[in-house]
Amino acid sequence: MKVAGRIESLAPYLFAELDRKLAAKRAQGVDVISLGVGDPDLPTPEHVVEAMREAVRDPATHRYPSYSGSPEFRQAVARWYGGRFGVRLDPETEVMALIGSKEGLGHLSFAYVDPGDEALVPDPGYPVYGVSTRLAGGTPVSLPMPSESGFLPDLDRAAVSERTKVLWLNFPSNPTGAVADLATLERAVAFAREHELLLAHDAAYSEITFDGYVAPSVLQVPGGKDVAIEFNSLSKSSNMTGWRIGYAAGNADAIRALSIVKTNLDSGQFTAVQRAAIVALTGPQDHLEELRTVYQKRRDRVVETLNALGWSLTAPLGSVYVWLPTRDGMSSAAFADLLLDEAGVFVAPGSGYGAGGEGYVRISLTVSDDRLDEAMDRVACALG
Ligand SMILES: *Cc1c(COP(=O)(O)O)cnc(C)c1O
Repeated sequence: MKVAGRIESLAPYLFAELDRKLAAKRAQGVDVISLGVGDPDLPTPEHVVEAMREAVRDPATHRYPSYSGSPEFRQAVARWYGGRFGVRLDPETEVMALIGSKEGLGHLSFAYVDPGDEALVPDPGYPVYGVSTRLAGGTPVSLPMPSESGFLPDLDRAAVSERTKVLWLNFPSNPTGAVADLATLERAVAFAREHELLLAHDAAYSEITFDGYVAPSVLQVPGGKDVAIEFNSLSKSSNMTGWRIGYAAGNADAIRALSIVKTNLDSGQFTAVQRAAIVALTGPQDHLEELRTVYQKRRDRVVETLNALGWSLTAPLGSVYVWLPTRDGMSSAAFADLLLDEAGVFVAPGSGYGAGGEGYVRISLTVSDDRLDEAMDRVACALG
């Protein structure tokens, strides 16, 4: 039996590959500290867990959920956008629930990309945008995010063509931690309008920001809704990666197109999970301040350690990552291997995020303070 060509054309998903390397090292008895994957170590807030317990007991949640999310969930998202960004959304037509935002990021390409079409993807950037473009038969085209501009998109150098359908952006950025101000998003909206593209903004880290910085939504841009769809998720803001609940908001045509893909492929997220997510969106938000404080402290620990070793990093204002150039012009993979072999610390090679990530590695802040301290001590010892 032969698998489809589209499977063979895909490199193994970066994290699957990384997991294998990590497991091999651990099998040798090394106490590896993994700073590879961005998966919050803090628990889901107790009031959200409690809402889930209650929801699960209600047999009404046991049936097929609605494809686009319950009306209550969509209203909660619309209310949240109103309060957080001052953006008005019609919960009927401009909001939909997703089984984790990655599900929507993946399926969006099937709604917009025909074979032969192109999508501009941030390079370096989260791999899903390019992979889904390819699975849909299209071609991902690198959108340069030069380090000199603070890893913001260089739209003047964007290789846009008649076949370009989608412009992907992600701020605060995984993997670089870069943040975009509203003016950057305004330029992206104007660019999408000029070239008749769908602007797809992944805002998974919109609430994970530091030093008082507040991330904008692309839907705040006047006319943003004409060209943009924005993805967000409870995964990072409420430590709910395992629950798989996210949403898309914005342009009604894009929401409709995405929901057509979804109605044909899945049946929506468990209604009980949606009820818990409503509580996460509309209930007390104390946990947010707490987790920002935790990540900010960890960020400072990493940046201070590296700068004492000779780096000159600026502390990122968002995301759960520190992105750094390798030492002595080493490749991403060689430097990641060095840290694994010499310090027992596992980091993500930047080359996994596109050619523009070569020469960098990404450190994730989602391990306990103790383990991160230990990791930084080991790195200082190995590189000092
Ligand atoms: C973590 C993350 C997401 C969230 O994915 P979910 O499927 O909602 O868990 C989306 N985009 C980026 C860039 C991420 O790092």
